[in-house]
Amino acid sequence: MTKDIFVYIETRQNIVAEVSLQLLSEARKLKGQYAEKGMNHDVVAVLPGYQIENLTPILFRYGADKVILCEHEKLKEATTQHTTKVLADVIRHCQPDSVLIGATVIGRDIAPRVAARVDTGLTADATIIEVDMTSDTSLLLVTRPAFGGNLFGTIVCPNHRPQMATIRPNVFEKIEKEANQGEIIRFETELDATDWVEILKREVQQAKANDIAKARIIVSAGRSMVKHMDLIRSLADTLHAEVGASRGLVETGVLGKDVQVGQTGKTVRPLVYIACGISGAVQHTAGMDKAECIIAINSDPNAAIFQIAHVGIVGDAVTILPKLTEELNKILN
Ligand SMILES: Cc1cc2nc3c(=O)[nH]c(=O)nc-3n(C[C@H](O)[C@H](O)[C@H](O)COP(=O)(O)OP(=O)(O)OC[C@H]3O[C@@H](n4cnc5c(N)ncnc54)[C@H](O)[C@@H]3O)c2cc1C
Repeated sequence: MTKDIFVYIETRQNIVAEVSLQLLSEARKLKGQYAEKGMNHDVVAVLPGYQIENLTPILFRYGADKVILCEHEKLKEATTQHTTKVLADVIRHCQPDSVLIGATVIGRDIAPRVAARVDTGLTADATIIEVDMTSDTSLLLVTRPAFGGNLFGTIVCPNHRPQMATIRPNVFEKIEKEANQGEIIRFETELDATDWVEILKREVQQAKANDIAKARIIVSAGRSMVKHMDLIRSLADTLHAEVGASRGLVETGVLGKDVQVGQTGKTVRPLVYIACGISGAVQHTAGMDKAECIIAINSDPNAAIFQIAHVGIVGDAVTILPKLTEELNKILN
């Protein structure tokens, strides 16, 4: 019988991706649900890389009971070829019950390849994962948006193991636990001698803006703000916030896709999200509805954004924003 929840740990330049820590913490919640059913599942972090043992304490701190350390010189970079091979080998050898992978560029690339190699299914871009408490199996109920975000589908994988899912960054919270040590298992695998892809040079692209996925405060602009970005930026400056946008605004070309919030943009979890002239389409709210406090300014009292806003201001953002900025400036600066 298969057991345990495996989480693929993605690293870049010896730093663990935030999403991997978020998934460890979520796996811990699943472990708790299994315990209620009398099942003992461990949370196991699978860490491929080279000379990366120093990263194991943080994995224990965010939820791992065990770490499977797969060290090989060829795993220095997370290449498709070698990462896929090592993950498939670990799964075949350890027979986990489920495998969670961050839906990053790397995770989205390797997850379907691994699923195909180990002959199982994959639910991509999940937003909710729960243990099915109604059956005596270890079945997971994995929910993801479907049909452009208008519906949510819950997908199960009853006949194959492991149950695999990718989850976008910031959908789950990372939660620290007290212990920062546990069992480390070394896993040796043979990797192809020849590389499909040879990395000749690595150029780090300078970020155009700070990453909105990490921002504590976001002032976000909708399509109607296209000619009023100065008002958005000045409120953001006052609050030391980042500027985000709906796809409606990004389509006008005034801001890049890197600040788009939503289903086809980024998922954000700031303390405060100020939505200015944003209608609140599900594809947008899917990326920001977990913000601690949502403030919406919209001239249409029936705008969908007001259904999830904690504070709603009905009115013309072009008039409201300068006044709001002026008042906040008096208090803050
Ligand atoms: C597959 C798919 C994926 C998508 N992914 C995303 C995504 O990731 N992110 C995303 O945002 N969208 C996404 N969309 C698009 C989404 O459905 C909406 O079309 C988009 O979010 C609308 O942007 P908006 O609210 O800025 O514009 P609009 O729909 O044009 O709404 C503008 C709003 O501004 C208000 N307004 C107008 N003037 C003012 C004013 N002066 N003051 C105050 N309020 C004013 C209006 O009342 C209205 O509510 C996706 C769509 C599809 C089909």
